[in-house]
Amino acid sequence: MKRQLAVCAWSFVFAVLASFPVSAAETLPQVTILATGGTIAGSGGSATQLTGYKPGDLTAEQLIAAVPGLKNFADIKAEQIANIGSYDMSTEVWLKLAKRINALLSGKTDGIVVTHGTDTQEETAYFLNLTVKSDKPVVTVGAMRPATAISADGPLNLLQAVSVAGSRNARGKGVFLVMNGEINGAREVTKTNTLQPETFRSNDLGFLGYVVNNKPVFYRGSLRRHTKASEFDVSRLTALPKVEILYTYVDAGVDVVKNIIATNPDGIVVAGMGNGSIATSQLAVLKEAAQKGIVIARSSRTGTGMVTPDPNKGDNVGFVTTDSLNPQKARVLLMLALTKTKNPKEIQRMFDVY
Ligand code: ASP
Repeated sequence: MKRQLAVCAWSFVFAVLASFPVSAAETLPQVTILATGGTIAGSGGSATQLTGYKPGDLTAEQLIAAVPGLKNFADIKAEQIANIGSYDMSTEVWLKLAKRINALLSGKTDGIVVTHGTDTQEETAYFLNLTVKSDKPVVTVGAMRPATAISADGPLNLLQAVSVAGSRNARGKGVFLVMNGEINGAREVTKTNTLQPETFRSNDLGFLGYVVNNKPVFYRGSLRRHTKASEFDVSRLTALPKVEILYTYVDAGVDVVKNIIATNPDGIVVAGMGNGSIATSQLAVLKEAAQKGIVIARSSRTGTGMVTPDPNKGDNVGFVTTDSLNPQKARVLLMLALTKTKNPKEIQRMFDVY
C-alpha cells in the first residue's frame, strides 16, 4: 500500500513538472562561435569574384545572419577574436583562443565553433587539439568561397559545424575540422587544393564521419592523445618557443640553414625528402646546431606516411622524428614540447603519442 502511494506521489510530481513549458533556448545546446576571419568572412566586389577578395571582412554576427534557422539548432553566442586572413594567424591569437575556449567550456557552454581561414586552419585545429582541456566539442570551420560569392560554401559549413559542436555524440573525440559534410580529426587533416571547396583531406587515415541532415555520424576516432589527456598547459603562457621550418630540395643551400640558426630558434623542423632525408651538406650544419641545444625534428615533404628513426640521418646526435605529422603540424607539437623540455628523448616520446 505504502509503495503504491509512493508511486502515485512520484507520478504526480512528474506530471506537474512535465506540464511546465520549457523554452526552446533551455533545450538547445549552448554553442559559442569564436570568429577569427578568413574567406568564410570574406567579401568580393561581385557574386562572381572567387579569388582576390578580402578575407576577414564580415563580423561573427553577419556570418550567423547568413545561415537561415541557425538559432533553431543551438543557443548561439558569438565573439570576435580576430578578423584576419589566416596567413596572418599567430601564436598570440592561438594562446588567446585556447585560453578563451578553456574558460568557456569549464562553464555552461556545450561546444565551440572557431571560424577560420583555410590556409592555416589545420595548424590552429591541431594546436587546440593539444591545448583544450575539455571533452566538449571544438570545431574549426572555414570556406573556400567568400561570403559574397554565388554558391558560397560558408553558410552550410557553419550550420554543420554548429550541429557537430552542439552534439553530445561528438564529445571526447578531439578537435574537428568540419567542412563539406565531412568531420575530420585535427591531427590528420590537411589542405590539399588551392581553390576547390573539398580541399581538406585526411589522406591515408581517413576522415572520422559525415554530417548528415545536421547530425554527426561517426565511423572512427583518433587513437592519439588529445585535449583532456594532453600534458600541455598554456594557461600561464604569453608566448611559445621559437621553431622554424627548413624545406629541403635538390641543391638546397647551406646558407639558408645557417641563417635560420643565426636567428636563435629553440627548434627546427626539417621538411625532409622522402623518409625525412636531408642533403649531406645541410645535415652537417644541423648536427652542429643539435649539439648546441637546438632541437632538430625530421618530418617529410611527401604529405603522407611515417618518418622512421635512422642514426645516419642525425638521430645519433639527438634528432627526433615526427611520426606522420606534416612539417607545419610537427612545428606545433615541437613548440608545445619545448614548453616542457629540451631533452630529445622526452620530445621523441611526445611525437610517438600525440
Ligand atoms: N586566404 C584565406 C585565409 O586563409 C583562405 C581561406 O580562408 O580560404 O584566410
